[in-house]
Amino acid sequence: MRITKLLAVFTLSGAALAQGVVDSREIDAVYRQAHELYLDLHQAPELSGHEAQTASKLAARLRTLGYEVTEHVGGTGVAAILRNGTGPTVMLRSELDALPVEEKTGLSYASKVRAQDDAGLDVPVMHACGHDLHIASLVGTAAVMAHNQDAWHGTLMLIGQPAEETITGAKAMVKDGLFTRFPKPDFGIALHVGNELPAGQVGITPGVYNTNSDSIRITIFGRGGHGSQPNSTVDPIVIAARTILSLQTIVSREVKPGEAAVVTVGYVRAGTKNNIIPDKAEMGLTVRTYKDEVRQQVLAAIIRISKAEAAAGGAPKEPLIENYEGTASVYNDPALANRLRAPLEAALGKENVIATEPIMPSEDYSAFIEQGVRSFYFSLGGADPERLAASKAGGPTLPSNHSPLFAPDVEPALRAGIGAEVAVLRNLLNGK
Ligand SMILES: [Zn+2]
Ligand SMILES: [Zn+2]
Repeated sequence: MRITKLLAVFTLSGAALAQGVVDSREIDAVYRQAHELYLDLHQAPELSGHEAQTASKLAARLRTLGYEVTEHVGGTGVAAILRNGTGPTVMLRSELDALPVEEKTGLSYASKVRAQDDAGLDVPVMHACGHDLHIASLVGTAAVMAHNQDAWHGTLMLIGQPAEETITGAKAMVKDGLFTRFPKPDFGIALHVGNELPAGQVGITPGVYNTNSDSIRITIFGRGGHGSQPNSTVDPIVIAARTILSLQTIVSREVKPGEAAVVTVGYVRAGTKNNIIPDKAEMGLTVRTYKDEVRQQVLAAIIRISKAEAAAGGAPKEPLIENYEGTASVYNDPALANRLRAPLEAALGKENVIATEPIMPSEDYSAFIEQGVRSFYFSLGGADPERLAASKAGGPTLPSNHSPLFAPDVEPALRAGIGAEVAVLRNLLNGK
């Protein structure tokens, strides 16, 4: 039913093609190939930084469509350019990577892939974040844009970004000259599929879209010894335990009520045996915030508390506190988000363009925004509409991204992804 409705909307908007929206027949013409690519990618996922096959499949398709394609940008990244007269340069980005997750969807095209991770461990691999759908959508969009070059003017820049899940790939592409070897985009576009919205809909969040993310490792030093003689030791496990509890007061006691902040200790590692007091303890934290000033406040508090608890416990030296990976929040230029609502509504139907709240997960698209690329990052519905309605009525919750059960409702989501991307690109590339 959803598909019929979507098609009806696309067909209705066909007459308005010249004003920058998309005809359903244009999507029909590219859909089968995009869907085939999706099924192929889903069954051949690759871990972050190892997306060699994924990148070469993407590159080959874009070359066939007439794009100037460069591979190995920032590792396995792909940059593809289509020049079509004078006008702005607009970038559309998809991620390439999958996750070390064992797929349990039971789908006929479920991944059975295993690979070696960077630590040399044998792990299952799954496109549990939907990046396969993003790539398929980008290729469908690339085809529509290449087939009808009367509907836009300027330079279209498509990128396949590696290593999003480790939030390192965007920076690596920038460092490898993404915006110096290739035209620097006036605008940047990206989407992310999820189960928060039904397939066929998109969500717009003007302003802050997601969180700043920081990964912190704290190593607390003690003095090891016999478990029966604690008096001759400094026990780092006790210091770690006190530190963990004190860290929980940052959000509850220090951050202004109403400001979003999360401090999670995701692992604690110490010791080998019950009767040995170890000489160090390590813990790993994830920190999420919306505002930069709150981010700085929380990070400073983590350092202060960790040092003070170690000093209180008589630690022989200060703890080692490493902020080993971090990314700023993705900021949606509000004027741009408002401008792009109209073409999205024209392409998908007014009722299918929803205002959405900022989300807690993070992503490294912000590395492109930090380079001065005004951007629009939006949400693509991936949920089976009936299952989502049942879940909202108190039924079972739908699996989130990264779940072994994550399985977007492919056809309506992919059609809406292509329709939305084409509508937005044509709007931004229509001259002026
Ligand atoms: Zn993810
Ligand atoms: Zn993702």
